Amino acid sequence: MPEEYMKYLQSLNERQREAARSDISIPLMIIAGPGSGKTSTMVGRVLVLLSEGISPSNILAMTFTTAAASEMRDRIGGVAGKATAKELTISTFHSFSLQLCRSHAEKLERTSEFLIFGHGHQRRAVIEAVRLLDKEKCGVQNFDASKLSELPNGSMPPEYFKDKSKKWQKFVTQAKASGRTPTDYQKMGDEIKATILGNYNNILQSCNALDYHDLISCSVRLLKDFPEVFKECQESWKAIVIDEFQDTSAMQYTLLRLLASHYRITIVGDDDQSIFSFNGADISGFDSFRQDFPNYKEIRLNKNYRSTRYIVEAAASLIRNNLRRCQLKDVCTDNSSGSKIIIRECQTEQAQCAFVVDKILEITSDGSISKPSYSEIAILYRRQVSGKVFQLAFRGRKIPFNIHGVAFYRKKVVKAIIAMLRTTLPGCDDGPYRQVFKALLPFEKDEKRRVIDHIEKISAIRRSSFISASCDIFNAKISGTFRRSQLTQGRKVLSTLEMISKLVQREHSISAVITSVANMVPQKYLLEQRAVVDVDGGKLLNEDNDIRSVLHYLLDDVSDFLSTHFAGKGEEAEIEEKKGCVDLLKSFIDYITEREKENFRSRRHDNKDSITLTTIHQSKGLEWDIVFIVKANESEIPLLHDFNGIAKENGTSVEEERRLLYVAMTRARKKLFILYVAMDSNWQMLQPSRFLKEIPDHLREIQAKVCMQDLQTKPRGILKETEDSPTDLPRGKQPADPENLNDSPNGDIIEPGTDSTEAFNALNGNYFLKRFTVEDRS
Ligand code: ATP
Ligand code: MG
Repeated sequence: MPEEYMKYLQSLNERQREAARSDISIPLMIIAGPGSGKTSTMVGRVLVLLSEGISPSNILAMTFTTAAASEMRDRIGGVAGKATAKELTISTFHSFSLQLCRSHAEKLERTSEFLIFGHGHQRRAVIEAVRLLDKEKCGVQNFDASKLSELPNGSMPPEYFKDKSKKWQKFVTQAKASGRTPTDYQKMGDEIKATILGNYNNILQSCNALDYHDLISCSVRLLKDFPEVFKECQESWKAIVIDEFQDTSAMQYTLLRLLASHYRITIVGDDDQSIFSFNGADISGFDSFRQDFPNYKEIRLNKNYRSTRYIVEAAASLIRNNLRRCQLKDVCTDNSSGSKIIIRECQTEQAQCAFVVDKILEITSDGSISKPSYSEIAILYRRQVSGKVFQLAFRGRKIPFNIHGVAFYRKKVVKAIIAMLRTTLPGCDDGPYRQVFKALLPFEKDEKRRVIDHIEKISAIRRSSFISASCDIFNAKISGTFRRSQLTQGRKVLSTLEMISKLVQREHSISAVITSVANMVPQKYLLEQRAVVDVDGGKLLNEDNDIRSVLHYLLDDVSDFLSTHFAGKGEEAEIEEKKGCVDLLKSFIDYITEREKENFRSRRHDNKDSITLTTIHQSKGLEWDIVFIVKANESEIPLLHDFNGIAKENGTSVEEERRLLYVAMTRARKKLFILYVAMDSNWQMLQPSRFLKEIPDHLREIQAKVCMQDLQTKPRGILKETEDSPTDLPRGKQPADPENLNDSPNGDIIEPGTDSTEAFNALNGNYFLKRFTVEDRS
């Protein structure tokens, strides 16, 4: 065994080493709490596999997030060298399955170019499946994919579909996660479910699409029904290791079992960190493993190397409140006790952000004793949207940060919308026009390419711009080789461009322009843009090209932009606003281009010195010295409705939410801050997360202006504007953060019983007076 490998194994403790070095032909199960070195042991296991002669290209390592996959590659690369690490297949379940399905697409009655239907597309397919049932009470054989574009888009579907589709989408997801087929429902005597599922499957087939669950079940089908695929996989993957096993769904487990028919499998997990049940994760996988691999060896690790004693004990106290735990683990640590966990109430999200920024500046300042680097700091939140205010603040203060998650402005759909807007700006070059034609021409890929190539050829010959060549061709000023349908569609694109141009001249609000333009993107183009397959807390939803969520995000950026752009401009702002929105649009595009460049820079410097902003789901397996868990409120953690807005408060889901906070807390090595917000942007009172009470007093320090005890017992109030108050804040002004106003006559703005309070807007020093009353809601 190479010396570096030996050295690494030496650095492990006895139990970890025993696990890593145990016989590679015997299935191995490592169960342990957070920070106990599971992933470190798994890295050791891979080194042992390599030293036993298994080629790196024959090792398959599965993780649950892309961040965890790259972390593992780095760790292995650090010991075995980058070249070896590069040869390993380290992948998420979904990207592994996607690869397998694409290689054998014809066996699945698809072409290798098949689309992946995310949440939004799935919803539309479900609506159609239900509609067909209601109309004809029978299945469909050949569904025309173009029909999807006739379905409501941009606006909400009619109530009728909306109500039904939520229920049926849930059914379809569950049926897929558990691997049920229409025949299963037929056998149960449930014709309706059987037909809807059958319709749905047919629609996907006609669209040459698979959904996320299909990727896994189709991989299983390939391995079960096609001996040649099974053989190929056995030869390709001679050893398999799986981190975060607790998040494996029943179907993913079946896939693993088939892949590991040679028994060279290592699983590593912690049932207390299972946080993907919305995606079908099922901790009974541990039991199935015991049954299916009866000669397995089980090793438990119990020493936490990551966190201080306060953090380890606080997390343990929290998770003890879960009743459904299958593997009780005792955790100990030799680490120092560190400092207590800080729990702090912040009046608003702005105040919360201000606190975090100040704290970061304080602890990273030169005068600070143990000055951490930015890369040792993370901000964790439940939902992507909570990260935005931090991005803005960090950008303003020039604090470097990186965002794990979606590269929004790199989505083709978003690029198409921006290109459509760019064409209205003076001096627009060929690029945006080309992009617009790509997005709007309703042809198949090849035909589209031929049309665009031809325009480019003409523009080169005539030395004219792309757009003037297009005008000449489609308005038949020059003879070309185009078919009639191509000419018609080309003319349609030109008239859409004209429409957008008029809209920009006429409209004063860029939000209105963007909304109209977004709704001009054809459904067909949305469907064409494949989602990046990577299932984690954010991406599953966000990578979906649902125009509504894209628009929501864009309009959010518009309001960020407006508040920066008009800040402190007073009258000037009104004059500028009246000019129409050409100039404003140009500034907005510059603004997002600059931001995108910045994000790109920070992404490239991912491992360099920058603060991490990420969802809790994405933070799994990772660690930082200092962690801020923000917006630890009721309705965030626990978030007790699903993505369709259906309430899901029950024992099981509350326990999963508790596990989520447990995962978040156990990411911290030295210092943990948990912050919650007292009211939202509409001045509605918010509650702190119920889980905060479960952290014992002696382990936490409550830093709150209004103490938490009070918040939980006093009647809740709602702030209401009184009639004499100005109706609107001036553009670009945020509601005041009373916490930061020492001279506020009524800083205790949320005390119940106060019938009139005043808040100030302190943004840019322009104080703005608002009056509120507190209405008792209890
Ligand atoms: P999680 O459940 O969060 O994924 P884990 O069990 O996978 O955690 P690791 O990430 O492997 O834990 O390890 C946590 C930290 O402890 C890492 O910084 C790692 O370097 C350190 N560590 C692990 N084992 C040892 C050891 N034997 N000696 C010293 N440090 C160790
Ligand atoms: Mg780990």
